[in-house]
Amino acid sequence: MSKALVVLSGGQDSTTCLYWAIKEFGHENVSSLTFDYGQRHRVEITAAKKVAEIAAIGHAILPIDTFKVLGGNALVDDRPVVDSSEQDTQLPNTFVPGRNLVFLTFAAAYAYQRNIEHLITGVAQTDYSGYPDCRENTLSSLEQTLRLGMEYTVTIHTPLMNLSKADTVTMANKLGAMDAMAYTHTCYNGAQPPCGHCQACQLRAKGFAEAQCADPLVERFAFFSHNHPE
Ligand code: ZN
Repeated sequence: MSKALVVLSGGQDSTTCLYWAIKEFGHENVSSLTFDYGQRHRVEITAAKKVAEIAAIGHAILPIDTFKVLGGNALVDDRPVVDSSEQDTQLPNTFVPGRNLVFLTFAAAYAYQRNIEHLITGVAQTDYSGYPDCRENTLSSLEQTLRLGMEYTVTIHTPLMNLSKADTVTMANKLGAMDAMAYTHTCYNGAQPPCGHCQACQLRAKGFAEAQCADPLVERFAFFSHNHPE
């Protein structure tokens, strides 16, 4: 069986992909990789570690500090998150230009050295943000570039590409990802428990509601506050 590497951000989608990969390639053939790109919310990295631990999957963290140096977006510096409807650009200011291209290129380099032929990423073109590096044509073009540039038959899998958030929740549930889902991080404000009002929290809540499934992350904090009153 060939080996697979999941790009794990600590979020809901990459966690679902981790469980998809386990089912698809077999537990012993899957490993995971997280990029420390100077993200403002360090809780993402903690979440990724915890998810890998629950799934009992090997996990590595690669540092890339260039995005932090470049700045200019709400995920690496202190500016507030702004929706594309609130500014004069096509994209929300959570867009980190080139992020997925760089992540997957480094993931491919990491995979090459370990004879891993399959990369899995949780990108979706149905994502409300419309990030251009999450689209199917970008990813298939990048796959082609990596194959040419590394002379290595790498395949990029995007199991969530055309799924709605609700479909992704249903899929995660079927794959048995909910224990790990309780430790994922989504909130753009980096809040724990999640703030519940940022775009990322609202999109997550909508997905769980439409899939008629309780969010184990929300339940975990509700349980905690119930049992540990202030
Ligand atoms: Zn939030």
